[in-house]
Amino acid sequence: MMKEPTITVIGSINMDLVTSSNRIPDKGETIMGESFFYNPGGKGANQAVACARLGAEVNMLGCVGEDPFGQVLIDNLNKEKVNIENVEPVTDEYTGVATILIKDNDNRIIVTPGANYSVNLTFIQQYLDVIDQSDVVLLQLEIPLKTIEYVIGYCSEKGIPVILNPAPAQRLSASILERCTYLTPNETEKLEITNDVDTYKEKMIVTLGEKGIEYWSDGNVETVTGYIVGAVDTTGAGDTFNGALAVQLAKGINLKEAITFANAAAALSIQKNGAQQGMPTMREVIDFIE
Ligand code: ATP
Repeated sequence: MMKEPTITVIGSINMDLVTSSNRIPDKGETIMGESFFYNPGGKGANQAVACARLGAEVNMLGCVGEDPFGQVLIDNLNKEKVNIENVEPVTDEYTGVATILIKDNDNRIIVTPGANYSVNLTFIQQYLDVIDQSDVVLLQLEIPLKTIEYVIGYCSEKGIPVILNPAPAQRLSASILERCTYLTPNETEKLEITNDVDTYKEKMIVTLGEKGIEYWSDGNVETVTGYIVGAVDTTGAGDTFNGALAVQLAKGINLKEAITFANAAAALSIQKNGAQQGMPTMREVIDFIE
């Protein structure tokens, strides 16, 4: 049997705390909410789960706090068959949380990184051997930018492909943009990460929500049309797309086919509630495409 690809995800591990109410409180006001739930999240952890569901060997490099949320999140990654050997509980920080307020279809989110900001150079330099064994390294922007820059530099010297999902968007240095292999912004992130899209367009794979994906090949813009599906919850569509893309590219599958596959995986993921809950298995994606 062909060996499954190895993907290293270096990124955030958060607990999503989701409160719904029939209106957003005013300044200084307390109101009663309608419902509450908490879910494992964080773009790093979500993308790691997406890769693992598709059968890849996944190493997660990240930090949580030494608190109950941290333990729940580690247990969840372990249950999803993500290798958690290198997820470190740190004593002096709380586990990252995303506080999500929902009113109708309007959501407001505050991400407090906590332990995710302990994914610094000292932390990463302990795990260079893990990075060395990777077919693809997958990154997002919920850990310090210095770490991202260092990892991209390291991987480019070693010839290890890096996919950077630039979310939440921030302006990126030329050194990051030049040395990463692929960038996977959505339409708004594309304009926020650089004002020189043209220079880097050959490495951009831009997700367009229900419209699908746009990318460039030999100077021509190409599109992969989105599937028409009944969307139940689009949270995590981007994370599923990135995980699936990483798995296919790590197997050596060509870009067009990898994007086509990831488009299908993402379309499947939005047919269930929750970011991680809807992430498909390899069999489910293959059955959906055929
Ligand atoms: P999110 O932050 O919600 O995870 P995103 O903004 O990072 O998403 P999108 O461009 O919204 O990313 O979605 C990623 C991919 O998911 C799309 O390129 C597409 O393949 C798929 N997708 C998203 N929404 C839909 C939809 N309504 N119908 C079909 N496919 C969708």
